[in-house]
Amino acid sequence: MDDLRELYQATILEHNKEPRNFGKLENATHEADGHNPLCGDSLTLYARVDEGGRVVDVAFQGSGCAISKASASLMTEAVKGKTIGEIEVAFGRFHALLTAPPGESPSTEGLGKLAVFSGVREYPARVKCATLAWHALQAALDAKGETAKTE
Ligand code: ZN
Repeated sequence: MDDLRELYQATILEHNKEPRNFGKLENATHEADGHNPLCGDSLTLYARVDEGGRVVDVAFQGSGCAISKASASLMTEAVKGKTIGEIEVAFGRFHALLTAPPGESPSTEGLGKLAVFSGVREYPARVKCATLAWHALQAALDAKGETAKTE
């Protein structure tokens, strides 16, 4: 394991232990549940969106594996203050990072700390853990009131 991977691993473990923006958001304008039955990850995503379509606050609660929890934590940090359009772009980049073919070096451009999940692509079953919070956020912002499922 090289230094970068160790750093990535440490960041994931740290966010799993002390997730940011963890808890219910009392004045949320949007919320949705997300379930990943393959792993047993389950979370509720809360967002407060202003009239300009900007996510001014975001939080989550729930339980799951280290990857799902750390991903939700890092996602809340990454999307806070962004518009819904900007979040869609970020999710597209994040998803491309996780599903890049083996042997290719996926771009981490614009991803910031989310790059710590680049190793997840070697474990396809865990991609759903890493994207669960993003799917739940999308469902919340779509305001369909449905439960986001990874299946
Ligand atoms: Zn999981």
